[in-house]
Amino acid sequence: MRILLIEDHEALRSMTAAYLAESGFVVDDVASLEAAREALDAAAYDAIILDLGLPDGDGRSLLARRGRPLPPALILTARDSLAERIDGLNAGADDYLVKPFELDELQARLRAVLRRPGARSEVALSLGDLVFDTISREARVGGRPLGLRRRETLLLEALLAARGRIVVRDVLDERLYGYGQEVTPNALEAAVSRLRRALEAAGAGVRLETRRGIGYLLRAEAEAA
Ligand code: CA
Repeated sequence: MRILLIEDHEALRSMTAAYLAESGFVVDDVASLEAAREALDAAAYDAIILDLGLPDGDGRSLLARRGRPLPPALILTARDSLAERIDGLNAGADDYLVKPFELDELQARLRAVLRRPGARSEVALSLGDLVFDTISREARVGGRPLGLRRRETLLLEALLAARGRIVVRDVLDERLYGYGQEVTPNALEAAVSRLRRALEAAGAGVRLETRRGIGYLLRAEAEAA
């Protein structure tokens, strides 16, 4: 799940981004409407978190933009005015949160927005006997949670979303370690090995295959055989 966070208060933005990343979301954060428009043109997001008071205008103007449909939006407002919130909801926001807010509450509201019908991604991804809930971030086999760590969870999500197609290494590196970050050559292999062991131990009925020098794919054992 990829989230765009638009907030000009630097400390709040970095704290929120770090918290959401820790919770398993892929987060891009920007501080202005202009940067938000660029990000929305460049990437597909599952939801946006939008501050209303931004240096180059009112966040609501983003909701009104034409062209590509906007992902579900959760608005943040420091000004506790009912009119503004109603305006935001009328303009197309899905929910709002009044500052200051608890990060746990932000996450709960965000997950609720992501669960609404019409959300970009399917909530549950499944293959073989494996079911992954993209919002609770839990992978289960026969109802039993696999207890994966954050990186293995991100890896599994990327492979499941590809539906049996190969996912190239660069894409996985970016998903797991963030864009433009230096990654040690073995980091991805280590995460793949841990995920593969967890899937085998749970009897997930899937096979995590390596395509040397290219990437990885996840297939149902029934198809692979
Ligand atoms: Ca602001």
